[in-house]
Amino acid sequence: MERNLIAETVDKVDEEVRLLGWVNTIRDHGKITFIDLRDRSGMVQCVGTNLEHVSPESVVEIIGTVSGRPENLVNSKIKTGSIEIQIKSLKVLSKAAELPFDMGTEDLNLDLPTLLDYRALTLRHKKQQAIFKVQAEIINAFRQALLKRDFVEFQAPSIISSVPEGGAEVFKVKYFDHEAYLSQSPQLYKSLLVGIFERVFSVNQIFRAEPSVTTRHLTEATSLDVEFGFIESWTDVLEMEEYVIRYIFSEVEKNCREELDLFNATLPKISDNIPTLKLKEAQEIIFQRTGRDVRQEKDLAPEDEREMCKWSLEEKGSDLVFISHFATKKKPFYVLPDPEDPTYAFSVDLLGRGVEWSSGGQRLNDYETILKHLDEWGLKQKDVELYLQSFKYGVPPLGGFALGAERMTMHILGLKNVREASLFPRDMERIDLRLSR
Ligand code: ATP
Ligand code: MG
Repeated sequence: MERNLIAETVDKVDEEVRLLGWVNTIRDHGKITFIDLRDRSGMVQCVGTNLEHVSPESVVEIIGTVSGRPENLVNSKIKTGSIEIQIKSLKVLSKAAELPFDMGTEDLNLDLPTLLDYRALTLRHKKQQAIFKVQAEIINAFRQALLKRDFVEFQAPSIISSVPEGGAEVFKVKYFDHEAYLSQSPQLYKSLLVGIFERVFSVNQIFRAEPSVTTRHLTEATSLDVEFGFIESWTDVLEMEEYVIRYIFSEVEKNCREELDLFNATLPKISDNIPTLKLKEAQEIIFQRTGRDVRQEKDLAPEDEREMCKWSLEEKGSDLVFISHFATKKKPFYVLPDPEDPTYAFSVDLLGRGVEWSSGGQRLNDYETILKHLDEWGLKQKDVELYLQSFKYGVPPLGGFALGAERMTMHILGLKNVREASLFPRDMERIDLRLSR
């Protein structure tokens, strides 16, 4: 007999079906046992007798008949709530050991360390699965949005020979008889590739030796990177980013209704345009609103980011806000300074619901100026040889941005910690399991 997916059972009243899946929960009512069976398509209630040997999370095959439920027993919360399966036979295909905690609850009420220590098990929970279905949709929509605009996807290397973007947060690796590093960003490769394909994007892992334990930093994260040429202005980058963000939101809204509902999540609000402010303007607003004088700072601190998001929502009806014109010297060597005031650069962060979601901007493309900046930033030409080779032979005016997939997922769903938005989060104290075990 062919397998039936659980989602199909609603249309098969009075028919016999063969289901394969996991035992989500078991409830014994005297002689009768109720099993909620789960497969990739959903969940269904099955009823039978003599099922004492079945344990939660075991993988089973159930053959049974679909029967309609009486009106008063219909469960409108699930798609299969109008039917149940009368079990004729149940075969255990893979028996689950006794569970360390109850997996059958609506919420997995576990603290974060336990949630992560038992990752292979906790990911089976419906709400945990939902996080990563949303993340998959975000990444898929990112790809679709850019493919529609003629971008080419590329794969960036993770092993690199030098760290031109700053050394403190980099992982060193032993590379045969040499020293190498794990890439913090595909920035230089994507810029180089603009000289080849004009428009490129990538979905790749980035590595940061973030020395602090915060709710927004992982040591390995997923970066959604975009770079494109022939831009007329830094605002072209904002327009492209806004297009990508709107595309992602609309796909998630369309395709992840159930997942969003599990978290009572609503997509971040965007007004007609994402508001855009210069750093200086933002600092003035923060000073006016809070009395904290941050007007001489070169960057926004986390509390400033939160304040600007509050301002944006209250004043502009937008959960997202762009902040531009950060101090040139605080940014990597490839930023393009604003000719009107070169101490500030055409660099832009996107803030969403209190946290930075992305950084980007317009880059240098003039070879001589790049050489000058390298010198001023105290970097060696030999550390960026391939990148320089590209610009020596001509690259159009370019810009782009990098969005953190985990941060986006976290703030769309309202999760408290970015670790919850990473399947297998790595941080100072954890690579899969706690390092100090
Ligand atoms: P922050 O200031 O919040 O530490 P950043 O400015 O160092 O971030 P960028 O180098 O601008 O980060 O990276 C681009 C994007 O990649 C960030 O906006 C963020 O969404 C994501 N990202 C960067 N580092 C991390 C990390 N350690 N963990 C999770 N996401 C990250
Ligand atoms: Mg940044």
